[in-house]
Amino acid sequence: MTNPLLQAHVLPPFSAIEAAHVEPAINQIIEDSRSHLKDLLAGLNTPSWETLVAPLEEQGDKLDQAWSPISHLNAVRNDEELRKAYNASIALLTEYGTEISQNENLFKAYQSLATSDDYKNLSQSQKQAVDNALRDFRLGGVALSDENKKRYAEIQQRLSELSNQFSNHVLDSTQAWFKHFESADALAGLPESALAQAAQAAQKKSLSGYVITLDFPSYYAVIMYAENRALREEIYTANVTRASSNSQKTNADLQTEFTAEFDNTEIIAETLALRHELAQLLGFSNYAERSLATKMAQSPQQVLDFLEALAKKSKPYAKRDYAELKEFSASRGCEDLQAWDTTYYSEKLRVEKYSISQEELRPYFPAEKVISGMFAVVNRLFGIQVKQIADFDTYHPDVRFFQIYKNDEHVASFYLDLFAREHKRGGAWMADARVRRKTPRGLQLPVAFLTCNFTPPVGDTPSLLTHDEVTTLFHEFGHGIHHMLTQIDVAAVSGINGVAWDAVELPSQFMENWCWEPEAIPLISGHYQTGEPLPQLLLDKMLAAKNFQSGLQMLRQIEFSLFDFRLHAEYNAQHPHTAQEVLQQVRDQVAVVQPPAFNRFENSFSHIFAGGYAAGYYSYKWAEVLSADAFSRFEEEGIFNSTTGESFLREILQQGGSKTPMELFTNFRGREPNIDALLRHSGIVVEEVV
Ligand SMILES: [Zn+2]
Repeated sequence: MTNPLLQAHVLPPFSAIEAAHVEPAINQIIEDSRSHLKDLLAGLNTPSWETLVAPLEEQGDKLDQAWSPISHLNAVRNDEELRKAYNASIALLTEYGTEISQNENLFKAYQSLATSDDYKNLSQSQKQAVDNALRDFRLGGVALSDENKKRYAEIQQRLSELSNQFSNHVLDSTQAWFKHFESADALAGLPESALAQAAQAAQKKSLSGYVITLDFPSYYAVIMYAENRALREEIYTANVTRASSNSQKTNADLQTEFTAEFDNTEIIAETLALRHELAQLLGFSNYAERSLATKMAQSPQQVLDFLEALAKKSKPYAKRDYAELKEFSASRGCEDLQAWDTTYYSEKLRVEKYSISQEELRPYFPAEKVISGMFAVVNRLFGIQVKQIADFDTYHPDVRFFQIYKNDEHVASFYLDLFAREHKRGGAWMADARVRRKTPRGLQLPVAFLTCNFTPPVGDTPSLLTHDEVTTLFHEFGHGIHHMLTQIDVAAVSGINGVAWDAVELPSQFMENWCWEPEAIPLISGHYQTGEPLPQLLLDKMLAAKNFQSGLQMLRQIEFSLFDFRLHAEYNAQHPHTAQEVLQQVRDQVAVVQPPAFNRFENSFSHIFAGGYAAGYYSYKWAEVLSADAFSRFEEEGIFNSTTGESFLREILQQGGSKTPMELFTNFRGREPNIDALLRHSGIVVEEVV
């Protein structure tokens, strides 16, 4: 056996993994799992935890251990070979997944366990795992006729292909466009850090001068700072037409040309049709209902009411924000404010109103200081220590590795991959590499992958983060500690496993709060040349500017959420609306600013077409009610109150998916959640007349 993916490991043997190992390994493990299941069911008299669930968990973990590094590499070191191997394996995995969830004998074994006396003696986590499994069998089509089972399997297979294609198109179209400049004159207005970045990007392409790209740090610097309005329009257009029929790419002569090769429009239409059909096969009226079957929200109407109520409360604020911006830009000579001007003038307005800019803060947030400060914050809150480990097997020199200790005991580990680079998907996320669970050999400790796309170091200057990036890091680390600090040792409900999707953003959004606290700022900031923490004056300005344009931001998130939810809830198989039409209806309903007609934002909306957020994007706002309300207990009792921290650790972080989110929240807060804290944190006061 020379395939590293087939050998037992504690940490993935990244340096030994090649694309050629992927498909044979997955094939092999699936074959083994099939015969394992067959033998298990054949020899099973009375299904119990020990005879049924434990051995399945053990076998399932082998698959997870092989798959998690592959899936991670596909996201952070994507190349043609790996992509092919990944695609082939995804098809195998989808087929196998459907086969398991439709296995009637296995379903009956779980049912018999659930109705046995044995069930009553199971732990809360074990019971929850069995209940979830029964739910998932039904959602996986176990009760369908043979013909419908077959159709269900076809749909699943096709949906997984579509999701993968969608994601690849977004990555490819993001990387296909760049613009080259011989001199910095055309980039006037860009801060030094962005120029240095652009020079580095040019070198990587063996060009002189400067190169700007659609990687977020590069795009954002241009859209925010470039004085050249035509250039802003150009990059804006390239960005919002990614993966559309008007996608742009830069050819060998460095000229821009249009291409439809990355177009996601048909993929979206087919995805929506198949999701709807799948939901109806299972007896739901639409995919939104199907989505809620595993979530905290009770009904589509409840979600729509929630979003519409939030929209109503925030719309006056958004209107006020936009009117202010229009007036300001007009006073600066821009009478016809366009989509490619809003970020630019917003930043100028922020500077004028609060005399603070994102760039001014950056030198105070070197990545090193922020990371060590973040570890100090969780140390004070939850009593954990984080230690960097120098010697580990990696897939890129940027990656770092850490271990978490509690009471001097090693409890978890994680990889941190911070910087944007080629062949790496954009955005920031946490993924589980290994789950905490009890094994016949002892306790398996959780491992996480934390991935961001921050501004890399340039030359001798270390990576300096914007405050937005600092917040993103805290967010992902919040997901990380949810996964890693769990005390649950049943894999199905350990860490983030089995957590209702609309509650999973609780710990992540919760952690963001510490990026704004005067008591926490000295821990996470320190000028990269002098070490001086963020001065009080800058902090005061930063806090004053915290809710700058919060009405517009809130409304934007609600627009995305409503778009996603209505797209799935109102789907009509006879007369399907295009995604573009539904988006327009939602904008007519809630937006205060209409983007240009060529905007195809939805074509790169990976969250809902290639991530887990289909009919679930509302989860961010939903969970923000929980996270803001949870944080309000710290506001009452002290933001570094270790008793309150210990309580959050015990009632929420350690519990994983072992209980419903409402039970966990109520245990921590002493009451059910309400929306007041979220509105207050966003500067939205319900009674005020605007
Ligand atoms: Zn998140």
